[in-house]
Amino acid sequence: MLTQNLGYPRIGSQRQLKKACEQYWAGRISLSDLNQAARLIKDENWQAQLEAGIDLIPCNDFSFYDQVLDMSLLLGVIPQRYAPVLSEVKTNKEIDLYFAMARGYQKDGLDIIAMEMTKWLDTNYHYIVPEFTARQEFHIFYENIFAEHHSAKRLLGNKAKPVLLGPVSYLLLGKEKEAGFERVDLIRKLVPVYVEVINRLRQQGAEWIQLDEPCLALDLSKKEKEAFEFAYRSIANRVSGINIILATYFDALLDNTSLAVNLPVRALHIDLVRAPAQLDEVLAEIPDHLQLSLGVVDGRNVWKNDYEKSLALINKAVGKLGTGRIIIAPSCSLLHSPIDLDLENNLDPEIKSWMAFAKQKLNEVNELRQIAEGNTSLLSANKEAIKSRRSSAQVHQQAVKDRIAAITETDATRRSAFPVRQQLQHERFNFPLFPTTTIGSFPQTDDIRQLRSKLKKGELTAAEYDRKIEEAITDAIRWQEETGLDVLVHGEFERNDMVEYFGEQLQGFLFTKNGWVQSYGSRCVKPPVIYGDVSRPENMTVRWSQFAASKTQKPMKGMLTGPVTILQWSFVRDDQPREVTTNQIALAIRDEVTALEQAGIGIIQIDEPAIREGLPLRKAKHAYYLDWAVRAFRISASSVQDSTQIHTHMCYSEFNDIIGSIAAMDADVITIETSRSQMELLHAFSNFEYPNEIGPGVYDIHSPRVPGTGEMVSLLIKAAELLPVRNLWVNPDCGLKTRKWPETKAALENMVAAAKLARQQI
Ligand code: GLN
Ligand code: ZN
Repeated sequence: MLTQNLGYPRIGSQRQLKKACEQYWAGRISLSDLNQAARLIKDENWQAQLEAGIDLIPCNDFSFYDQVLDMSLLLGVIPQRYAPVLSEVKTNKEIDLYFAMARGYQKDGLDIIAMEMTKWLDTNYHYIVPEFTARQEFHIFYENIFAEHHSAKRLLGNKAKPVLLGPVSYLLLGKEKEAGFERVDLIRKLVPVYVEVINRLRQQGAEWIQLDEPCLALDLSKKEKEAFEFAYRSIANRVSGINIILATYFDALLDNTSLAVNLPVRALHIDLVRAPAQLDEVLAEIPDHLQLSLGVVDGRNVWKNDYEKSLALINKAVGKLGTGRIIIAPSCSLLHSPIDLDLENNLDPEIKSWMAFAKQKLNEVNELRQIAEGNTSLLSANKEAIKSRRSSAQVHQQAVKDRIAAITETDATRRSAFPVRQQLQHERFNFPLFPTTTIGSFPQTDDIRQLRSKLKKGELTAAEYDRKIEEAITDAIRWQEETGLDVLVHGEFERNDMVEYFGEQLQGFLFTKNGWVQSYGSRCVKPPVIYGDVSRPENMTVRWSQFAASKTQKPMKGMLTGPVTILQWSFVRDDQPREVTTNQIALAIRDEVTALEQAGIGIIQIDEPAIREGLPLRKAKHAYYLDWAVRAFRISASSVQDSTQIHTHMCYSEFNDIIGSIAAMDADVITIETSRSQMELLHAFSNFEYPNEIGPGVYDIHSPRVPGTGEMVSLLIKAAELLPVRNLWVNPDCGLKTRKWPETKAALENMVAAAKLARQQI
């Protein structure tokens, strides 16, 4: 029985990669310094995997920015607009081209925009989307991969296994940049380059290679399935002497099972954490020659593996295939898990004993192999940990479970239908047409951030910190009043992050010191860990909202993060369904909503920017997910009087396929991002005849550019052509925390002026 790993975190246990890249971008270190930093990380990673006893250790899973961008460079898929970078840059051409594609290039009189970035399947990792043209050619351009395999081989010998994104997924995860062709048709031109790459790796001594084809776990068209057939048959015909592992993950193969097991490769990897039931389906169809890699250790969460559960799967596969055809592995690349639990010296020891990060997960893979081969003495410690978690009073709160069991449809429904509520709210607030507001946060200046770090270090007392926050809120309110906004916000100055802020105050959450995972490029996030039943010991935001409300006669909007977003941006429990955890969070938010209302806050916004990204990969599962996600939002929002106005916010606007669910959330007002599409994206709402109120963002907050009043007026007029005017609000696309004050003030002054002009023109 072999063991393998599919990929290891590359940011370094101290986020060295982030620091090195950012210094290189700032021109403070040289390319050789950058390469040296990378070498140290790679060596540390390979060493850790060797020590964990892994047989097939990934190389080329390292990346300075993103593994999909690495593929584009390897294959010469370089959009035309970057040609000047190559001709202008004199040294470090390739790496500077690479970073230009990732981040844009503003230098030497050039101003070239970056490539688009999007979420890697259903993870929070973002990749750089390949851009294809009708006449796209492929050739080996960036030779880095060969050097990396070479150095991996020096340390790992035959264990070094290069990892590439497979040809079909590489095409499918990209985009056509012009009309008149389908990117999947490029497979015929692409495969010969893959053949060349694989043959060169084989000549360098690679015995195994891993081709990732996550798209095999998605809904595929007939043509896409044919592309898989074509690609892997061609590769098999023209490559020999190297074992190809085809890696799938994040969902089951389902209707792609026959296709996948019959592709001419040495081994198939399947994700048995996300989709344990697919083992039976795969075993039923697997041909005699194929080896099976069992992804039994969760690569996307922080919990210790339940060995007994994994062994049941392993034993079933061994029973059918014998040990010689089995490989034990994590479910997917460990890119998505934090690196080393040993570095956490501040966790509750009991909870820590239930956890495993990347390094520990590899150890689990190795132990599972040993147990499967008969060394059952390794089972007992694991059993203890699993048992302690299952029954721990830190996890299980009967009162929370009872409340979940008692939720009724009434709890998830506002007292009256929207038209009744709208009438009452209009009477109560008496807003003009096109009421103006913002999405919640105001600039998180260095001064504000420093307050928090001083408080942490003890350089500021809690009382001093609170006074400073009060000052910031008071200033922001005075300024909003002067500017003439209709619904004010307190500015979220007291919040480090919209999820962390709530997690820190809720029971059932913990925070690690070093549990970083890569989000994109040098950006890392440290998601909270939800380990137990969630409850809310005390009010979380009332103090600040109430203070803010006391400083003005205008309505003050309370500001909360919604249950689905809190779930989606955390590591979650794997011992109960996601929807149960979400409902627990929903009840906590509901109580906060109630408390805000009782404190006199008449408008409450519950942000749900992550609802869409929680969509399952397979269409057949969308309805079920949307159902519980919408219900959780409604549970959080429905305790209030009809005259209390509930807002929600989502900072994206691809709503076409989920508009019914958005409407079912039944928020009185939704604010969304639309400005960059010139209100085009509002069509989803108008075609659906979306009944409730809506604030389509009138300006893009992602850059410091100050929008003119005229352009915002014309966007408002456009919006008024698509939706009833009485339902329209005026606001920016998203919160303003990443902006500076001067542009924020200028933009909002123009926005208020635009609303006034639009009122006259309508
Ligand atoms: N209220 C949050 C803010 O203004 C919303 C952020 C978000 O949508 N991501 O920052
Ligand atoms: Zn937003």
